[in-house]
Amino acid sequence: MSKSPLPTRAKIVIIGGGVGGTSVAFHLAELGEKDVILLDRNELTSGSTFHSAGLVGQLRADPTLTKMNMHSVDLYRRLQKTDTPPSWRECGSIKLATTPERMEEIRRQIGWARTFNLDLKEISPKEAQELFPLMDLDGVIGASYLASDGQVDPSQLAMAMAAGARAGGVQIFTHTRVLSIQTEKGRVKSVTTDKGVIECEVIVNCGGMYAPSIARMVDVRVPIVPMSHQYLITDNFMDPSAPLLPSLRDPDSLIYFRQEVQGLLMGGYERNSKAWSADYQNFDDIPANFNNQLLGEDWDRFEEIAVNSQRRVPKMSEIGVKSFINGPEGFTPDNEFCLGETEVGGFFVAAGFCAHGIAGAGGIGKVVAEWVVAGEPTMDLWHMDIKRFGASYRSPDFTLKRISENYEAYYDIHYPGEERQSARPGKKSPAYDWHAANTAVFGEKSSWERVNYYANHESDDALKPYGWAGKHWSSAVAAEHRATRENAGLFDESSFAKAIVSGAQAPEFLNWVCANDVVKGVGRTVYTQALNTRGGIESDYTVTQTGETEFFIITGTAFSTHDFGWLEKQKREGGFNDVTIKVVTEEFACFALMGPKARTILGKATDYDLSHANFPFMHSREINIAGTKVRATRLTYVGELGWEIYTPVADGKKVWEALIAAGAGEGLMPCGYRAIDSLRLEKGYRAWAGEINTETNPIEAGLGFAISKKKEKFIGKDALANSKQTRKLVALTFDDIRQVPLGNEPVRINGSVVGRVKSGGQGYTINKAIGYAYLPMEHTTPGTTVDVEFFGTWATGVICAEPLFDPENAKIKL
Ligand SMILES: Cc1cc2nc3c(=O)[nH]c(=O)nc-3n(C[C@H](O)[C@H](O)[C@H](O)COP(=O)(O)OP(=O)(O)OC[C@H]3O[C@@H](n4cnc5c(N)ncnc54)[C@H](O)[C@@H]3O)c2cc1C
Repeated sequence: MSKSPLPTRAKIVIIGGGVGGTSVAFHLAELGEKDVILLDRNELTSGSTFHSAGLVGQLRADPTLTKMNMHSVDLYRRLQKTDTPPSWRECGSIKLATTPERMEEIRRQIGWARTFNLDLKEISPKEAQELFPLMDLDGVIGASYLASDGQVDPSQLAMAMAAGARAGGVQIFTHTRVLSIQTEKGRVKSVTTDKGVIECEVIVNCGGMYAPSIARMVDVRVPIVPMSHQYLITDNFMDPSAPLLPSLRDPDSLIYFRQEVQGLLMGGYERNSKAWSADYQNFDDIPANFNNQLLGEDWDRFEEIAVNSQRRVPKMSEIGVKSFINGPEGFTPDNEFCLGETEVGGFFVAAGFCAHGIAGAGGIGKVVAEWVVAGEPTMDLWHMDIKRFGASYRSPDFTLKRISENYEAYYDIHYPGEERQSARPGKKSPAYDWHAANTAVFGEKSSWERVNYYANHESDDALKPYGWAGKHWSSAVAAEHRATRENAGLFDESSFAKAIVSGAQAPEFLNWVCANDVVKGVGRTVYTQALNTRGGIESDYTVTQTGETEFFIITGTAFSTHDFGWLEKQKREGGFNDVTIKVVTEEFACFALMGPKARTILGKATDYDLSHANFPFMHSREINIAGTKVRATRLTYVGELGWEIYTPVADGKKVWEALIAAGAGEGLMPCGYRAIDSLRLEKGYRAWAGEINTETNPIEAGLGFAISKKKEKFIGKDALANSKQTRKLVALTFDDIRQVPLGNEPVRINGSVVGRVKSGGQGYTINKAIGYAYLPMEHTTPGTTVDVEFFGTWATGVICAEPLFDPENAKIKL
């Protein structure tokens, strides 16, 4: 460690010397950043890292994370050849299936591993046993094998990355505790340690389970809770000359194994999880002296896992236990990392590794270092972006309930459409009671209760998708879809994130941030994207000009922190001091009335002239409904004539009931979010975090129409102008409407894998299953036949011209 005195200035300060901090330091050095300091309050690796089990598995449910883990393996191989090798052993790994559903999961993973050139393959139970002879095959129906998975010594790994970082110019100071962090004009300015103050431009909080307390120094909430995680190591009993066993995961039994010297290391995810220092009232403070320490053995909670391990590896009941480890590890509410820049400029976090931080460290360090240097993520990191967490996660109660639920379900199969059950009901629309009384089946997004569909619209299962897509499917969705296309649907979209942007510089500011021209006059609504400097889509929303210098922005329920945070950052960095961004999500309810009869129905609830001449498409007006002044905006996300109606929350129930009453006799049906998804897929409307994200640009996503041709400048314009289009988002259809892609399936043309499905669903009007995929330009001609792999079997689909429904937009512009 550095013997020099603590510098008083550095460009970048990393807090935390576990695998996270050392990897960020290593990758910053690789990117040529030399003015970097890493601080740890104790020794390197003295947090969670020293007691890790060290398994490195690459395949995860998210393609980005899988790519990151593949980078980890590349890096660990590379480090193994240096003077400070981390004991990387490429022993391979086996995953067992004991149920048909788990076998489906394995086959699905093999399919999308193919799209990454990852060497995952299916093996028989017998082949699994040949690779791991200690195993009993009771109940095993199949398995997968990934030869390039491995194991590493976690402390040596951190030391190897620290050595690489130091060689690249990073200075490392241990026994240096960060006590506070200073900010100026919304940006970090310095850190105060027990050894002195360091002025800096960027801080990366790599504090692992300590990250929340570090973030509290700048009033940033990092929703991580230290959870107790346990494993044991047996006495040595194996032949020292035998080859190293592969790691073994038996998720249906909640257990994993790897060889440790001549014994076995065995751990798992208990169904009765236990937070260490947090409770339902308090955050997660960790004692000031908690370093290089473990928690007390908790055999009672481990019992189920121990029993399961003896069933799978009978030898476990014969051999002694050499050591039992109970170590705390930082978990997040959805088992994904917490990465990226927070609402405080220059304050980054890279923590919450949920017991896969050793596997992830290499990739985490790479993407976070790139993020720090570029100022924005260089790949789609939404699933790991700290900005995915909304305000609800400020609550310890909410956070802990979510984390406990996720920990306990760590090894479960997660089917599409699955809903979290803990900490519900959360936020409610003013019409919630009406929905509940009318058989609504609720889902949850960002702690909002939202109607998925109404059970009383259910009929028969004739259209039920095969396999996983059918698990949480309901025939009510088809009924609600059809009612919207044929008559009208009323959707409660009160959870939409809403903000008012105002101030003398607001028009100039928004036209700088948005790719479309959003300053078209009071009463006009514009659909736009906000791009990053690489031309990737940071946000996708509508902007309504409500005054000369006032705008109303509507974005998706889950994107409030992300999208409005992006606006705050551009305001701060662009020096737009006369702009105010006020989040008003909970002040207004939103009801969308959509369908050919929308004008007739709304006309019964208001005396405003709704004719096309007086109230054209993409215009917004204040009108009266049931004695309440509401904002009605004529637009659609389902491809029908319609209005979104924004009403003060206090009058929300009254307005909802007035609209329902106006629809009597007109075939109006209250509808849920699942129907919206089916309708918008058919119409080809994009969803951020679905078909579009920071890694895709509007041209390849088919959104070129929403880019202003006349504006001279906006963020991302130059990058777009200089980019060469190599791929395009295309719509695929399958004649069998029950053959529904879920996303990530490989797409093959003429026998070669050319891409993977992004999203999928059912189109009940066109009576086909639908998928969207980015494909190389040469493979995007409508009419081209494609093969898509569903759980190990290939089905044929076809590329279709878009949109699949109402290409003339005749239904919208009535
Ligand atoms: C029992 C167990 C088994 C595991 N098994 C595996 C496995 O098999 N595979 C896998 O991939 N992952 C595994 N993990 C997870 C993995 O160990 C962690 O994800 C990883 O070590 C976390 O690293 P980190 O750098 O984020 O945090 P840490 O290692 O905890 O580092 C954080 C550092 O921040 C420092 N710090 C805190 N506050 C301050 C301050 N104010 N000032 C300065 N420094 C500060 C601390 O001293 C600490 O050194 C396991 C975890 C546990 C508990």
